[in-house]
Amino acid sequence: MSFPNADASTEITSEDAEMLELDLLYKSSLRWFPSDGGAKERSGLPWGFCVTPLASAPRDTKDLLAADSVARCDNCFAYLNPYAALNTKKGRETWRCALCGELTTYDAQKQNGNRFALDHTIFETRVSAADTDNSPPIFLSIVDVSDTPGRQLSLSAIRDAINAQIEALPEGCLFGLITYADTVGIYDLKTSPPHILRIPVFNGDTGAMLRLEDVLPFSQLFVNVGEYKENIITAVDSLSASTSSMRALGTCLDLVLDFFQSHSMTKNNRTSLYVCGRPNYGRGLITADTEGDDISPSTEFYRHQAERAVDADMCIDVYLLKDSKEISSYGLSSYKFLSLRTGGNVRLYDTLEDVQVARDVYHQYNGTISFQGLLRARTSLGFGIQQTFGHFSADIEFRDLCRIPSCDPYSTLYFYLQFVSVEGMARNQEAYVQLAFAYTLLNREPDRPLVERRLRVFTSRHSVSRSMQKVHREADASTVLSLLTQKIIRSSLDTTFAEADLLLRDWVTILLTQQAEYVTKNMGNVNLPETTSDSLLSQLIRYVFGLSKNAIMRPDVDGDRWSFLHSLYSGLSPDLLIRCIYPQLQKVGFSDRAGRPLLFSSTQGSDDLILDSFSHIMIVHPDQQPPEQGGFTRREVARLKSQRPMTAKVSYFPSSSLDRTLFHMMLEEEGAGGEGYKTFTEQLHQEVLKMVTAKRDDDE
Ligand SMILES: [Zn+2]
Repeated sequence: MSFPNADASTEITSEDAEMLELDLLYKSSLRWFPSDGGAKERSGLPWGFCVTPLASAPRDTKDLLAADSVARCDNCFAYLNPYAALNTKKGRETWRCALCGELTTYDAQKQNGNRFALDHTIFETRVSAADTDNSPPIFLSIVDVSDTPGRQLSLSAIRDAINAQIEALPEGCLFGLITYADTVGIYDLKTSPPHILRIPVFNGDTGAMLRLEDVLPFSQLFVNVGEYKENIITAVDSLSASTSSMRALGTCLDLVLDFFQSHSMTKNNRTSLYVCGRPNYGRGLITADTEGDDISPSTEFYRHQAERAVDADMCIDVYLLKDSKEISSYGLSSYKFLSLRTGGNVRLYDTLEDVQVARDVYHQYNGTISFQGLLRARTSLGFGIQQTFGHFSADIEFRDLCRIPSCDPYSTLYFYLQFVSVEGMARNQEAYVQLAFAYTLLNREPDRPLVERRLRVFTSRHSVSRSMQKVHREADASTVLSLLTQKIIRSSLDTTFAEADLLLRDWVTILLTQQAEYVTKNMGNVNLPETTSDSLLSQLIRYVFGLSKNAIMRPDVDGDRWSFLHSLYSGLSPDLLIRCIYPQLQKVGFSDRAGRPLLFSSTQGSDDLILDSFSHIMIVHPDQQPPEQGGFTRREVARLKSQRPMTAKVSYFPSSSLDRTLFHMMLEEEGAGGEGYKTFTEQLHQEVLKMVTAKRDDDE
């Protein structure tokens, strides 16, 4: 399974490239779809897929066809794709839709677009300018300037972050700056030095005394980042702490939401919300005594605000800066919905002096950004979407339509599938899933409009089988576990940690019992797979073990951190999520899906090893001296770092010394934070044995 990926020089055909691209955009837990409910049950695996709609770079504008040049099915509105069957009968040309099976007349006038769609599983098109909202993108920063612990450090980190964002944004974008403490401060960025206008806030539900447009018109609130760069930087550098420790976050957001809902020029936007303490004033306050259990929201106020934000196509990123010594809750479990519903991200920083905030912000705004995203998932007959997870809002009318006000190349959505009838797909040999993502791209190409409406369509074909062996054979362990993680998080929120843990252990026990029952067809054989194997089951047992020890499963993790992890895990692609769950230990330059077992003995040897836990990349090197600058290992670390939405910490450890940090990453060792892998599998073996015996007794 291991192969060096350093000098891959084999030629890649355009078809291969398309397959690789599809694999970035779309991953299903089961490559072979089960034929019906029975086959699905027997497989014991979650059935679904995830979509990372911007994982591959948007095409150059010059290569794009017009969206209306590609035919759509008259019946289900799916786009023409390579799996459609063309027919000519009595001089009439038609195509049979792979998704719904109906015939549509082949429109010869759309010959160019249609030929292209018939040849490509992925295509991107341009929506005509007439149908596009061309207003320049708006980037608003809302900063908590209240008096909080570590205030000077967090303000300095925020200043750096906003300046980094301004550096990354193309000219022509609009920028605005608002602060809050016990009043809301609006920056007039057209004056030099920038003038701050304050809106007083009443405590309680009354709100604010004025509206935003009462103090500043749109044109002064939002200014061109190219034209007014100096003013913006002066304003950002002048951000200073208020003498008040009151934080009127809810009222401040109300003002902004009212403004965005009443202006039509604000549809393309992304707001950065910097929070440094618990909202404790004005509307939506989170009082210390109403916190209840830390992971559930103590108020529905922000969830409602998030719904309003989606109505206004508004996306909000929450940056929570919390001093690591601060133990009281900042109430993130209540306002995480501002990001979870709107396509935004939640970030938690507990090292205030770190430059990580600025790095993350720069990385985000220097990359691909979309606005007004609409993702539609269509499936062929017999099955459909059961449940969705991720940072978006499901459309009220259409369940399979997701509204994503803004997203980036890492934003991932998860879909669970279900059969719509008892028969399922028993008569089908193939099943299809088609995703259509309409979005407005922030365009960085020179001499092009700043925003461009696009449509990206990709279609995946799956074989259908009743056989559990076939369904298992090409299942993807990372996607299986990522889907399962979504359900486990939901269970923690809806029930208790203990029940979520039970659900996880039951799941793996049933999976192994069914393996004994249907695959080896030998109820006496309940041996767990070899620990050294990289089989699906072996990988899944490891991942379940990792998940059971993960902070997301631990009631002792504080509510802010838990809410941050919830947000992170529900929007991360499987290849990155899996590193959070079961860090990947690999020889540098080798790609090995399963990775090495996390045992201290795995770190010994004569090669440089990389241990990647998503937020922390550790290099274990055999010599006392860390790998040389510019060498292969360092380049590999840089490559890995560039492939994630958050800056990873990098550390170097000589393999000869037993470092505490490194030891705690060795999840399988007994005593490295709870039970070891051996104890876990022994217990699991006993559970499976018990279940198999019970089943055998039932059958006799
Ligand atoms: Zn159709």
